[in-house]
Amino acid sequence: MAEAFRFRIHQHGPAGSPVGEAFTPSHPKPGWVRVGLKAMALNRLDLWTTEGIPGLPLPLPLTPGCDGAGLIEAVGEGTTLPPGLEPGGSAMIAPGLSCGVCPACFRGDDMLCPTYGVLGHICDGTAATHVLVPAANLLPIPENWSFEQAAAFPLVFLTAWEMLVHKAALRPGETVLVWGGGSGVGSAAIQLVRALGGTAIAVVGSEAKAMKCWELGAEHVIVRGDMKALATKVRELTNRRGVDLVFEHTGAATWGASLSACARGGRIVTCGATTGRETSFDLRALFAKQVQIHGSYMGRREHLWTLLSLLQRNPTNPPFKPVIDRVFELAEYPAAQRHLEAGQGFGKVVCSLS
Ligand SMILES: [Zn+2]
Repeated sequence: MAEAFRFRIHQHGPAGSPVGEAFTPSHPKPGWVRVGLKAMALNRLDLWTTEGIPGLPLPLPLTPGCDGAGLIEAVGEGTTLPPGLEPGGSAMIAPGLSCGVCPACFRGDDMLCPTYGVLGHICDGTAATHVLVPAANLLPIPENWSFEQAAAFPLVFLTAWEMLVHKAALRPGETVLVWGGGSGVGSAAIQLVRALGGTAIAVVGSEAKAMKCWELGAEHVIVRGDMKALATKVRELTNRRGVDLVFEHTGAATWGASLSACARGGRIVTCGATTGRETSFDLRALFAKQVQIHGSYMGRREHLWTLLSLLQRNPTNPPFKPVIDRVFELAEYPAAQRHLEAGQGFGKVVCSLS
């Protein structure tokens, strides 16, 4: 085995503070596998894990990283691999871990399992040459996709699908305001809204990002500025009605605008709060407009298989695919974290091990 290497959070600190170290990978226990990683992708969770979350102690030292793809290099005794996978073959990794034996897990709501957690947050993750995961977390890599694309796919597409399809029940013909259209989850949402027959209005921070949102299939793009001007623009674009659905993950800075952008009877679905966790709003806007608010976190592992089956129908012209902003080497993982935090890119930040 080539020298094994991983990043570690020994104590919480700013983005870019995990330190690299050599380590000896363990043999997987029954039901688990060891993946020799070829690529990993960063998520906001990498930054929150690194910085620490008030009131939520993490098991330090910890290797961050929720997303990855590579080769199945060791399989625990008596372990069955999911369909389409074999020892030594390639696989991508589903990031959610759950017990598998509770009522929530039985009905497929693994992200509602009392023990649910994410790789790289509750146990060692993918900012490493090797990672241990349950065999049930492996999936085949879509045809013709690179390891980098495969690593950039699971977390954001799982999150966006759960939000749009299962929390907010998006129907064809509906209009969706997508905040942060240039983010990993935003760029996934724009493509899924289009694939599901909806109309995406993307919000971005610059003209350069606007062009890319159009290329992904956004019907309209608003370059973010004054929130009042944004609300006016949304009303113009929707014939004064407002949007059926707001795809929120930005939090405090945008929450008021999300509420005012909503049509009567509209929905807001949120999975994050990158601009701030606390906000206040006028409850009259909520009940008078009969707005529904849905909280969402990750998604059912089953949905990744649904997404794979949609991709397999048309592998040469897939209805959606991960957007990669920039590829770093794994050794540059701290720099990749700082790049993600700066928020100037478009799409996913990936580290390659090739
Ligand atoms: Zn469970």
